[in-house]
Amino acid sequence: MSERDVLELDCVVVGGGPAGLAAALRFQQRAEQEGRSDLAIAVLEKASSAGLHLLSGAVVDPRGLDELLPGWRELDPPIEAEVHSERFYAFSSRRAYRLPTPPPMHNKGNFVCSLNRLAGWLAGIAEGRGIDIFCEFPARELIVEDGRVCGVVLGDQGIAKDGSRRPNYMPGAEVRAKVTILCDGVRGNLTKQLMSRFPAILRDRNAQDYETGVKELWQVRPGSFPAGRVVHTLGWPLPPDIYGGSWIYGMSGDRISLGLVMGLDYTDPTYDLHREFSRFKTHPYIREILKDGKLIRYGAKAIPGGGLYAMPRIYGTGWLLAGDAAGMVNMARLKGIHLALKSGALAGDAAFDAVASGDVSAERLSSYERAFGESWAFDELHGVRNFRAAFKKWRRPRAMLAVVLQTLLNGRGVTYARLRHTQPVHAGLGAPRPPAEGPAFDGELTFEKLTDVYYSGTSHEEDQPSHLVVVDPSVCVERCTAEYGNPCQYFCPAGVYEFETELVINAANCVHCKTCDIKDPYGIIDWVTPEGGGGPNYTDL
Ligand code: SF4
Repeated sequence: MSERDVLELDCVVVGGGPAGLAAALRFQQRAEQEGRSDLAIAVLEKASSAGLHLLSGAVVDPRGLDELLPGWRELDPPIEAEVHSERFYAFSSRRAYRLPTPPPMHNKGNFVCSLNRLAGWLAGIAEGRGIDIFCEFPARELIVEDGRVCGVVLGDQGIAKDGSRRPNYMPGAEVRAKVTILCDGVRGNLTKQLMSRFPAILRDRNAQDYETGVKELWQVRPGSFPAGRVVHTLGWPLPPDIYGGSWIYGMSGDRISLGLVMGLDYTDPTYDLHREFSRFKTHPYIREILKDGKLIRYGAKAIPGGGLYAMPRIYGTGWLLAGDAAGMVNMARLKGIHLALKSGALAGDAAFDAVASGDVSAERLSSYERAFGESWAFDELHGVRNFRAAFKKWRRPRAMLAVVLQTLLNGRGVTYARLRHTQPVHAGLGAPRPPAEGPAFDGELTFEKLTDVYYSGTSHEEDQPSHLVVVDPSVCVERCTAEYGNPCQYFCPAGVYEFETELVINAANCVHCKTCDIKDPYGIIDWVTPEGGGGPNYTDL
C-alpha cells in the first residue's frame, strides 16, 4: 500500500506563473459566478513563493490582464513604468546604428515590470479569492491511469544524496484531480512526461525551437537610463547564423533590466551563453550605460520560440496545457506573458466547464483548443507563425526580409507557406574545437559565472540526489568528449557542469533555466524537480 497522503481536488494547476495563476483565477471566477463554491482548486508551485523562479524582460502587453482582471490598475499592480520611448539598434563590435523600430517591437501602451513581482501580486489576488497556492510543492510525476491524467505526485522531502532517508523524510503526496492544468513553464518536467506518454500530441508539429535569455539587473547612474525607455538590439556579438538579440528596459529607481537572447540551434559546441552575454556588455553603447553602475541580480531562462506550428496539442483526457509549457510565445514581439495569461484563462474556463458537467474527456476539454483558435492570441501567433522558422531556414539578412514581408502581409504570401522542420535544437552540433576567447572578467562590468550565480540568489539543500539526472553517464566520457568536447560545460549559464576526466555536476548552482535538458546533444540530461523551495531567488527579475 502506498505510504503517500492523497489530496483530492476538482482541478489542480501545476505552476504558479502567469498562466497557472490566470487558470486558477478564471476557474474560481466561474465557480463564484455559477454558485459552485463546492469545487476545489489549488496551485502547486516549486519555489518558496510564487514568482521566485520566474525571469523575463519584461515589457508586458496589458491585454491579458485587461480581460482577466478588469480594473486591475486599481489593485496596486507592480508596474515599473509605462513605455514612453523606444529605440532599435543594429550593433557592430564598435558601433550602434539606429534603425526604425520594426512594427512587432512597438511597445506603446505596454508597461515595464518584473515578472517575479507580477506573479507575486497575482498570487496575492488569487489567495484573496480563496485559492490555495501550495509553495515548495514540486510536482514530480504525472499520474496516468487508463490513458487519462489523474493528477500528480509531489517530490519526496528529506532524501539524502546517497538515497537514504534524512530525519525530515516525508513522502510526497498524491494530488488527484479531475482536471490537471500543466503550466510548468518552458520544458516543464511534467509536460515532458506528458509528451513522452502521449507522443500523438506532437504529431505533424514542427520541432520546438528554443532560445536562452541571460539577464542582469543593474543599478545605474541617476538619470542615465530613464524608467520606461525600451531598447532592443540585434547583431554583435551574435554571428549571422545565430538567432537572437538584446533588450535594455528602464525600471524605477534608476535600475535597468539587461539581457541577451540566443537561439539554441547553434552548431559550435563551445558556444558559451554567459561568455557572449559578458562580451555584449563590453560594447561601447552598453558599457556607457553601465558605467559606475552596480550589478544587483543575475539569472537565465530558456524560451520556447517555435510559435504556432511547434505547439503540441493542448488538451487531452483530464489535462490541459497553457503558457510556456504549451509554447505560447510570440518571438517576433519577444513576449509571452500576455499569451500565458490568455491561455491560462481559457484553460481555466474549459476546466471549469468540464468539471461542472462531470465530463473531463478529451472531447469535452477540446473546447479549450476551439476557444484558443477563436481568440486574439491565436490570431497574433498565426500572423507570425513562420517567424522563427525563417531564421532557422535562412541566414539573418534573408530571414529579416522574409519577416518584413510576413509582417506586411500578416503572415500570408508565397514566403509563408508553412516552413517545416523536424530537427530538434540539440541536433547538428559540430566537432570539438578550442573555445573562443571571452572578455576578461573584471568584477565590475563582467563577472565569472560563479559570481553571477551568487547574484541569482540560488540555493538548494546540498544533501539530496542531483536533480540533473544524466540517464547514461558513460556517454559523457566514451562518446561526448570525442564527438563534441562536452558542450554542457559551456552552455550552462551557471557553471553547473565541469569536465576533466569525468563529469562533475554542481547541482546546487542550477538556476533552473532548462538549457541542459534542451541542448544536450544526446538528449540524456533529464531535469527533474529538486526538493521544494530549492532554486534561484529571482527577486525583481
Ligand atoms: Fe540551466 Fe541546466 Fe545549468 Fe541548471 S544545470 S542552470 S537547468 S543549464
